Order: sequence, then C-alpha cells, then structure tokens
Amino acid sequence: MEATQKICPRCGLKYSWMERRRSNGREYYYAVHVEGSKRRKCYLGPREYENVSRLHYDVALTFKGLLERGRAVDYLESLLIALKRDVMRERLSREDAKRLMPLAKELVERLELLLKSKEGGEEDVLSRFPPPSR
Ligand SMILES: [Zn+2]
Repeated sequence: MEATQKICPRCGLKYSWMERRRSNGREYYYAVHVEGSKRRKCYLGPREYENVSRLHYDVALTFKGLLERGRAVDYLESLLIALKRDVMRERLSREDAKRLMPLAKELVERLELLLKSKEGGEEDVLSRFPPPSR
C-alpha cells in the first residue's frame, strides 16, 4: 500500500478526492469515489459538530470534523483551560489530580524536548522515548 493512498474513513475504499460543500451556512465533507464514469460520495460529517459541542459547554469543547487539522491540540487546549478553571475553584478531586499529574508531567517533558529539538535542528528526538503508557 502506498503511503499516500487515500482511503475513505467511511467505506474503507480508495477515494479520488475530498470535497467540502456548504449548505445552510454549514460546511460538510465528502469523499468522492470515481467508479468508471460514475461518482459516488461518502459523507464524512460536518466541519463542526454543533449539537454535540453544545452538550460539552462545561469543558469548552467544540468538536471538529474529520478533516480539520490540529483537532487534538485544540481539544487539549480547551480541556486544559477547563481543568485550570476547576483547579482554581477547587472543583477537581484529589484522585483526578493524582491521575492527571504523571500524564501532564510527561506531556510537558515531551513538549520541552520537541521544542528543544526543533530549535537545534535535531529531528525525531521523541523516538528515544518509550511509547506513552496509554
Ligand atoms: Zn467511501
């Protein structure tokens, strides 16, 4: 399999291109499969999941579509802001704080190494670390 082969996350078959369509002020993604002279489209979801996001207002998450870049960073940033707010209001339990501490420390260490490696031009410094525990 080619590294650049485009596999549709909906049906698992190769697609030709992705398409973004606008309807009622919202954007939706499709994978376009060209099959002979016909085209078939697989729906890949909206750019943002507004209804789902509304139900996560307490953690300030706006769920984004499959093709949006940087989703993990955006999600984590929102969660960190929500957690910081909970810590400041003393709403985070001691047990949850204990669970998060090693993950937070490891993330900070990895981020520092990543930034350091980028500054020095050294690549792939993270491969020297064991894989994350989860
Ligand atoms: Zn498909």
